[in-house]
Amino acid sequence: MSTRPSVGILALQGDVREHVSALAAAGADPVPVRRASELDGVDGLLIPGGESTTISRLARIFDLTDPIRKRIAAGMPAYGSCAGMIMLANTVLDGRPDHEGFGGMDVVVRRNAFGRQVDSFSADVPVVGLEGEPVHAVFIRAPWVESAGADVRVLARISGGPADGRIVAARQGALLATSFHPELTGDRRIHALFVEMVREQQ
Ligand code: GLN
Repeated sequence: MSTRPSVGILALQGDVREHVSALAAAGADPVPVRRASELDGVDGLLIPGGESTTISRLARIFDLTDPIRKRIAAGMPAYGSCAGMIMLANTVLDGRPDHEGFGGMDVVVRRNAFGRQVDSFSADVPVVGLEGEPVHAVFIRAPWVESAGADVRVLARISGGPADGRIVAARQGALLATSFHPELTGDRRIHALFVEMVREQQ
């Protein structure tokens, strides 16, 4: 068992650099992934926030869509943040018609769910399994999980306000998704949780 698993970051668009340093701080060997040969060598894959329609288009152009789908189906751990959550969802509401995700998680995700008025905001959310303080979660035109299948464990919900009770973090087996952007704060607990999931699978 390697102590520093190799974790890919889908590097087509979005917050790639921030995730590289967060993963390194959380004990992984981060590897930007832009082609299928780079995907082959990683033990897990992080799909960053950005714009899901753009990420899905670029993944198709770079011939990564099918290889990523296959790896996920074969059990590769994956973590999707924000647009990455949309990419991992089996069903997307309010997506563009040409959106092609990777799928794998039995969740219905609503894109841009928080609406215009609360487009971007932050909130403290307790996350199941993380010790200590709630996570200071940054939401940027974020999706939420509208409903989740029986095998999905809800890890965090918004409490209070118009989105009270909405699911913003979930896990299904080796797949993890958050509506928020943990790379934008100094808190590395979400990245550490994912690195631990990757280690478990090795
Ligand atoms: N609204 C974006 C989308 O639909 C996600 C925003 C983000 O990743 N910060 O893909």
